[in-house]
Amino acid sequence: MRIINDLKLDYKDVLITPKRSTLASRSEVELRRHFKFRSGNEWYGVPIIAANMDGVGTFEMDSALDKCHTMAALTKHFKDVELIEQFNKKLNSSVYSLGISNNDLNKFDNVYHLVGDKHIKVCIDVANGYTQAFVEFIQKFRERYPGVILMAGNVVTPEMTEELILAGVDIVKVGIGPGSVCTTRKMTGIGYPQLSAVIECADAAHGLKGHIIADGGCSVPGDIVKAFAAGADFVMLGGMLAGHKEGGASSFSDNRFYGMSSDTAMDLHNGGVANYRASEGKTVEIPYRGEVSRTIQDILGGLRSACTYVGASELKELSKRTTFVRVTQQLNETLSAYEI
Ligand code: 5GP
Repeated sequence: MRIINDLKLDYKDVLITPKRSTLASRSEVELRRHFKFRSGNEWYGVPIIAANMDGVGTFEMDSALDKCHTMAALTKHFKDVELIEQFNKKLNSSVYSLGISNNDLNKFDNVYHLVGDKHIKVCIDVANGYTQAFVEFIQKFRERYPGVILMAGNVVTPEMTEELILAGVDIVKVGIGPGSVCTTRKMTGIGYPQLSAVIECADAAHGLKGHIIADGGCSVPGDIVKAFAAGADFVMLGGMLAGHKEGGASSFSDNRFYGMSSDTAMDLHNGGVANYRASEGKTVEIPYRGEVSRTIQDILGGLRSACTYVGASELKELSKRTTFVRVTQQLNETLSAYEI
């Protein structure tokens, strides 16, 4: 047994100090980034991704987020034919999600060949990115599909970030336990404070010309700002994008949001929770939030404002101009009063 005594931080533990700025207006801030990945692929847009969760990673969300120049990871539960139709729309936003079973691979193979886009964006997504089976799957996948933009995770430590990048991943997904409907920390005691995970994994990835996604734990626009400020190239959102029209929510019914390994999701997609495992997600009631473009506008407004506070004319500069200051619990309670 070993204890890491260094302090590790979450988004709620810090604020960002303002810096002198020559920017006259928020409208001068450029939030779109041009990425060049290790695989040689490129992507241009606002680096925010809807999570591949029910009520978030839907086709309607994908189309709406394409118009906002962001991305959407589609859930794993769509049928081949539906996915082929969606990917044939050739949106800049669509991301194909899969797990690491043979069925997942066969389904992807079918969609890939019928869509005929060698540079399709793919997210290989497992709860625990530390297994040997996961790394071997990534290597096999990269050999078979050298042209795809490959995102994969989840991990929270620099060594595993490096291992995934060397195995062929373009963008490593970082986050174990911070999700709004995740109960992994409660059920297993496993996890890592998300701000520190992002700082440490971004540093490791950038050293190898790789990229990272900060996945989970953002509940207000300021958390997204902190994730980018900590070095994240992309931020993935579940709860903040739930409850919208495009995810199937409405003002006439109760709207639920649940983790993809909650009892609700297992009952719906897998015929119940297998008897050797426990649910690691929960189900919550959420208010109806209308169209997602309004929420995205709020988020982008927060990001632009933060960039002007620290004098960053581009999102890319934000982390270089960031000094975090640790804050007390009391200040956090004041902050949470503003949660949307
Ligand atoms: P949020 O933005 O809601 O805080 O976090 C979204 C992320 O939570 C997802 O992208 C995914 O990584 C994670 N997640 C989704 N469902 C579950 C679940 O049932 N259990 C766990 N442990 N994590 C989940």
